[in-house]
Amino acid sequence: MNDAERRDPAVWGDVHVQPGEGREVRLVLSETYAGADIGIPIYVWRGAEPGPTVYVTAAVHGDEINGTGAIRHIIMEELFTISRGTLILAPVINLLGFERHSRYLPDRRDLNRCFPGSPEGSVASRIASTIFRQIVKRSDFGIDLHTAAIRRTNFPNVRADMSDPRIADFARAFGAELIVSGRGPQGSLRRAACAAGCATIILEAGEVWKVERYVVEYAARGVRNCLIHLGMVEGEAEKPSYRVETDRTKWIRAKHGGFLHFRVAPGDILEAGQVIATNTSLTGQEQGEIVSPRDGVVLGMTTLPSVAPGDPVCHLAFPSEGNLKHVERAVEKLSEDCLHQRMREDLSHGVVD
Ligand SMILES: [Zn+2]
Repeated sequence: MNDAERRDPAVWGDVHVQPGEGREVRLVLSETYAGADIGIPIYVWRGAEPGPTVYVTAAVHGDEINGTGAIRHIIMEELFTISRGTLILAPVINLLGFERHSRYLPDRRDLNRCFPGSPEGSVASRIASTIFRQIVKRSDFGIDLHTAAIRRTNFPNVRADMSDPRIADFARAFGAELIVSGRGPQGSLRRAACAAGCATIILEAGEVWKVERYVVEYAARGVRNCLIHLGMVEGEAEKPSYRVETDRTKWIRAKHGGFLHFRVAPGDILEAGQVIATNTSLTGQEQGEIVSPRDGVVLGMTTLPSVAPGDPVCHLAFPSEGNLKHVERAVEKLSEDCLHQRMREDLSHGVVD
């Protein structure tokens, strides 16, 4: 991003946020039919010393509110103090979707396919353009918080373009066990931000319409780790239990219509041939098993047991090289009360009966 495009993290219209100060500002994104402003609250937190600017956004998909919970947790619990640089926290980006408990904007567009947007474009494109100019163009790095889509849940995983060393470095700093490499869909906030020089990663964790306590803890810990890495927060970063980085993922799909009994949960490590779910008819007649084609980690799963042929059941990440023996050994050594294991236990309640 060139200097002419770059915006001062201290200046928000008439409001100036001073070094060492944290305060709420409002960003006007659109107008109602009656002409009232539609604005989102943003918390701008500046350290006393200069440093990088980082944004953390949530609910770009309006029903994905785990990230909203994480940002509120960071502000309300004062998990850390910013000593250098600026942290921009936006708990709800897609306010119109959020207020309708919907992923989409009222015109049925996906805001996360409209970036960087245009001030002359559709409603969605104009909203995207304002967010891009006012948040992304102030920032050096970004973290966009998501959940699985409706009727699914995800074990926390970071997604980032690992072919770019600056983005890869930032993604690893988050401290997630699982990193899925890729640039993200065309028009996504992450992809457009990275193309404009703002190294952005996303977290995919948990379900829609929920604020899950361990997902909140995981997201907030990751944000803190990233800020420690950039020298904006004092302290020691927490390391993941293991690391798997891959660009090989696959949705395992149902062969027959029926009702599933899940045998695995998000975060589980599977061997080739391991049973993911058994499929029975509605009257309980056995219709076969869904098995893992290779060794893999369960990234995400459906939470809905009724399926048609082709319905996605389980999203697996496969190691790019070698096997997952080192992961199994690392997980065996974990104590039951560590965050990784509490997360697995909690997320399993959503799928395993
Ligand atoms: Zn999303």
